[in-house]
Amino acid sequence: MSGPSLGGSLRILSFKGIGVHVHWTFLLLVGYVAVTTAASGAAVQEVLLQLAYVALVFACVVLHEYGHALTALRYGVRTRDITLLPIGGVASLERMPEEPAQEFWITVAGPLVNLVLAVLAGTLQWLLFGSLDVLDPRHGSALLPGLLAFLFSANLGLFLFNLLPAFPMDGGRILRALLGLRLPRVQATRIAAGIGRVLAVLFGIGGLSFGEPMLALIGVFIWFAAGAEARSVIQQTALRGITVAQVMRTRYWALPGEATVGRAVDELLAGGDQDLLVVEGGKPLGVVTRRQLMEALRARRDELPLRDVPPTPVRAAAPGAGAQEALQLLVLNRAPMLPVVDGGTVVGVLEPDNLAEFLQVQGLRAQRPGAA
Ligand SMILES: [Zn+2]
Repeated sequence: MSGPSLGGSLRILSFKGIGVHVHWTFLLLVGYVAVTTAASGAAVQEVLLQLAYVALVFACVVLHEYGHALTALRYGVRTRDITLLPIGGVASLERMPEEPAQEFWITVAGPLVNLVLAVLAGTLQWLLFGSLDVLDPRHGSALLPGLLAFLFSANLGLFLFNLLPAFPMDGGRILRALLGLRLPRVQATRIAAGIGRVLAVLFGIGGLSFGEPMLALIGVFIWFAAGAEARSVIQQTALRGITVAQVMRTRYWALPGEATVGRAVDELLAGGDQDLLVVEGGKPLGVVTRRQLMEALRARRDELPLRDVPPTPVRAAAPGAGAQEALQLLVLNRAPMLPVVDGGTVVGVLEPDNLAEFLQVQGLRAQRPGAA
């Protein structure tokens, strides 16, 4: 999978500058496996073995995500990080190339890693033990054949599951990329999302009628992911050719670096925004958040100049830059706002909400009778 990165995670390793993070909800999976295994009357050793198997599956998921990330790197697209969730991994690509062929290869690389691992484990198992018995040590077979058989079936499972033609699975993106060879991206996404929804309903019905709550849950998950993907692509398309200057706010809250915390708090009470842009000599120095102001106030530092709070540095955008790229910069840097700088002077700010508002207004205008 690929998508935006999530907060609340711990970095466990890094390769080629791409860190692997474990999201805190992963602990729920570890807890669930441990408790259900222990509840079935298993010994401590067996519980640990089960957890080792969970770790093994997720090692394969990490390799899958690196398949996406390293292929993306070949096309010059960086990956911010890889996050492991209980439902799988997410590689946060800086952007997804709109070139269908590039998207196809980046997407297909993940499942291909699992296919290669399955073939390797299966071949080794076959050569060494002469059978592809899908027994694993959890069912009392010897360690090595069990391990190979487990790697074979786990990777085959990961390969097939990820090829389901529904967002956010890789299969959804592959389907969209294939449709995109003939159709505009928005239309390709709509069709792919529609197929995903049909699949989601089938999962839901299947899950309920066979009493498999996990299946139904995956169905719900796919249903919402389909809508989210369609919206994101429609938004991206709507923003194409739109510049930062068209979307930015020209009325915003800014103060010079020598202004004090006390003055900023007074202005905040009089109706300031969430975040304060600190400007020095016309240039953006950084952002001071409402929380930083409150902390300075609590520490009785009313007289502290804002430049010493200190403001968090933010990247700036040019008014002529593309709004879509600027939005990506905002999300990527987890910045509250992006100052827009023209000739060394701040002329406006861009916030995530501005883009949503702009699109809403544009949509309403387009719907008015007589609109072009
Ligand atoms: Zn994937």
